[in-house]
Amino acid sequence: MTELSLHEKDKEYVWHPFTQMKEWVESNNQQLIIERGKGIKLYDTEGNEYYDGVSSIWLNVHGHQKEELDQAIKDQLDKIAHSTMLGLANVPATELAEKLVEITPEELNKVFYSDSGSTAVEIGLKMAFQYWQQREGDYQLKQKFITLQHAYHGDTVGSVSVGGIDLFHQIYKPLLFDSLQAPAPYCYRCPYDEEEGKCNLSCVKELEQLMKEHHQEVAAIVIEPLVQGAGGMIIAPDGYLAKVRELATKYNILMIADEVAVGFGRTGKMFACEHEAVQPDIMTVAKGISGGYLPISATLTTNEIYDAFYDDYETQKTFFHGHSYTGNPLAAAVSVANINLFEQEDILGQMPAKIELVAEKLKEIEELAQVGDVRQKGLMVGIELVKNKATKEPYSWQDKMGVKVCTKAREMGMIIRPLGNVVVFMPPLCTTTEQLIAMVEITKQSIEKITIN
Ligand SMILES: *Cc1c(COP(=O)(O)O)cnc(C)c1O
Repeated sequence: MTELSLHEKDKEYVWHPFTQMKEWVESNNQQLIIERGKGIKLYDTEGNEYYDGVSSIWLNVHGHQKEELDQAIKDQLDKIAHSTMLGLANVPATELAEKLVEITPEELNKVFYSDSGSTAVEIGLKMAFQYWQQREGDYQLKQKFITLQHAYHGDTVGSVSVGGIDLFHQIYKPLLFDSLQAPAPYCYRCPYDEEEGKCNLSCVKELEQLMKEHHQEVAAIVIEPLVQGAGGMIIAPDGYLAKVRELATKYNILMIADEVAVGFGRTGKMFACEHEAVQPDIMTVAKGISGGYLPISATLTTNEIYDAFYDDYETQKTFFHGHSYTGNPLAAAVSVANINLFEQEDILGQMPAKIELVAEKLKEIEELAQVGDVRQKGLMVGIELVKNKATKEPYSWQDKMGVKVCTKAREMGMIIRPLGNVVVFMPPLCTTTEQLIAMVEITKQSIEKITIN
């Protein structure tokens, strides 16, 4: 009996995420197996190299095999890999909590750890729910959540319940709890047909109407600040987020800011909420927290919410939640090093020039015949492909235009991954200006090659 090759083993044993395995297994193209990474490059088992154009799914910050991050894990490994936080504390998770409180909006003072963006959101939802149950007064009816159309907050059942992407979420409907859905600030396809940049924020008015009617039964609004990522890089107009905060306060609804994608510098500031001086009641962070190294996440909250749980044991206000790997020391250690690097290398100070450069270069893409809308916030970019630029008629999903463009980019040496008809470009923050130019150029040529014939 001959041994299976690595590629054969992959097809035989592995079920990949968000993947139709029939396509994967039967594809004529050989699937790539990544063997190593260095800086912003990925190397496969065949020795080919690729730009990491989506930061390994929106995670990577300082590049792969970053010396300081590697070292932080090695140093921690010489002490201990994991110890539980149930009934014990550990050194790196304690230090990381202090750092997170320092760098996040001022009113967030308490850190609850978990291991993915989805679990961080679950925790936020349960915290908000339990908070109202334990508040003095008549608040026990506040059990629902407001969420936005096109929202994405993860794949666990609770986070899917506050999601708004039908393709991913529809089939699970019978499993989910009901949420109230507000319109998304999707300016390119504004449901009110208002002109981008000059609108009346009708979506906000509808949100207010929803709050006005339902605030007595609403625990919280869950929102991706500034950019709805997985929904297609939908960027809210200036002032939208601040307005949501204002309305949530007015109607006594908690605000859960899901910074899982936008956090850690991706939008040009450490956290997206900072752009509009927004103080959320609960904030979730994951993805970039460890520089893209290890799975760890956190749900931060205010003293006020924390205090609603803080009481004698007999009052039964304990927050009964916790995952086996919560506060993992290796992941916490590399996260501390990640945050230190932001300062040591002045990552945020270099962002404006990079953002500007990408914006300039994207103008060439905007002019392409099949590009309807180019959306950019910081180093998060979504390019919406359309069948007809004048009418904004979308390609049908069967055309798989996003997938085709990304496959072409791969042939040209860059890994990117689409969201339907939206081509996503989200390079690591450490990407140099020369590399950014090269990567946007590959994106442009891939779109041209696929759409011209
Ligand atoms: C990716 C993402 C999540 C889910 O994070 P996982 O670590 O994949 O579970 C949640 N919210 C937002 C906004 C995300 O982009």
